[in-house]
Amino acid sequence: MHRLGRHPKDGGPVRVGQGIDVHPFSDDLSRPLVLGGVRIAETGGLAGHSDADAVAHALADAVLGAAGLGDLGDHFPDTDPAWAGADSVELLRVVVDKARAAGFRPVNADCTVMLEAPKLAPHRAAMVARMSDALGAPVGVKATRPEGLTPAVLCIAVVLLEPTGG
Ligand code: MG
Repeated sequence: MHRLGRHPKDGGPVRVGQGIDVHPFSDDLSRPLVLGGVRIAETGGLAGHSDADAVAHALADAVLGAAGLGDLGDHFPDTDPAWAGADSVELLRVVVDKARAAGFRPVNADCTVMLEAPKLAPHRAAMVARMSDALGAPVGVKATRPEGLTPAVLCIAVVLLEPTGG
C-alpha cells in the first residue's frame, strides 16, 4: 500500500524529477552572476549560452524529468541563437507550461546550490520568491560551500509533480 504516496482518484501517481546543472565562472568579468532568477552580483558571472542560471536550469531539468519530457537541451539547444543571453526564469516558465500540457502540475521543489562565494544568504528570499513564482509551487533554496573544490556553481534540484487529472 502507498501509505505515504498520494494517488488522486482521477490520475496516476505523483512523479519525482531530479536535475543537476553546473557552470564555470566566466573569463568575461562583465557578466552578471544570476542564480535563481536573481542578480547576485553585477560582475563575476558564469559562462554559458543563456544567463547561465544553474538554479533555474537544474529546476527546469527536474520538471522535464518528472514529466517524462526529456531534458533542457532537447527543448532549448545551446546552438539556438534565440536563447543567447536568455532569462532562464522564462525557460523555466516554458518548461512548467509544457509539463502542465502533459498533465502535471508542480507540488514543490527543493534546490541545493554549491558555490564558494559570494554568500547566497542575503539573496535567498528573493531566489525563493522568483523560483516559486515561476514554478507555481513552493521552491526551497539551500546553499553549501564546496570547500575550494571547484571554481564553478553547481545546483541540484528535485521536484514533485502531481497529475492534473485533466
Ligand atoms: Mg545550464
